[in-house]
Amino acid sequence: MSQSTNIMGIPFPNVTMDQTVAILGKVVDQESTELFHVITGNPEIVMSCQKSTSLRQVVDQAGLVTADGAGIVMVSRLRGGQLTERVTGCDLLFRLLEEGNRKHWSFYMLGAEESVSEQAVKVIAQRYPGVVVKGRHHGFFQADEEQQIVEEICTAQPDFLIVALGAPHAEHWINKYRHQLSAHVAIGVGGSLDILAGKTKRAPAIWQKLNLEWLYRLLSQPSRWRRQLILPRFAARALLFREPK
Ligand code: UDP
Repeated sequence: MSQSTNIMGIPFPNVTMDQTVAILGKVVDQESTELFHVITGNPEIVMSCQKSTSLRQVVDQAGLVTADGAGIVMVSRLRGGQLTERVTGCDLLFRLLEEGNRKHWSFYMLGAEESVSEQAVKVIAQRYPGVVVKGRHHGFFQADEEQQIVEEICTAQPDFLIVALGAPHAEHWINKYRHQLSAHVAIGVGGSLDILAGKTKRAPAIWQKLNLEWLYRLLSQPSRWRRQLILPRFAARALLFREPK
């Protein structure tokens, strides 16, 4: 059995959520000085990689690319791939906080609005008292503030750097500073801090199970309709995709 499933030229390792958490736990235990970058690969990232060589390089350099988005798993199934479940940034963050609560993992939270960032950290302290939050910064900073944020993360030396700046900005940001960050693992998690803070709601489990999370997001945040036009285009292109010879 192949160890990864190719979606439009991107090899997605065939990992479940449990395996992903176990892999990241080992990375933390090894205390490697090299940053392990996790990309939760959704259709938008896969489509952007077709045009953007810089994003493709970031994806190629990542330690792990997981299947975010029902579309990725669906295309895998229809093309005989081995991806069995979604590993979304939001689910992964919640699982890491649960595990971190037991193992006293440390986190630095970068991104989202100031009030959301503050509230997310309060929620973590209440729900996951064993987790150590070593620092946080909102995501609406200027370019000339970046170096100071990088230095703060470097001093904090968290096990996990959580970057909620939106895709693919988070992925480029992590890659740009990967040699300076002094975190074991860095993950771009989209709008997960908004969910953690209670600003936006995750689709109910039944919608997720029926692969309708995209519809729930569209109904609750109609302004995203333009972004979601990419989903049918992704499905059509990914199903017909042929590797260039
Ligand atoms: N965000 C940020 N800085 C920015 C733009 C966005 O911190 O300059 C945050 C925003 O507040 C939200 C997250 O990034 O918390 C993006 O959420 P979205 O659901 O759009 O994520 P995506 O699906 O684009 O990865």
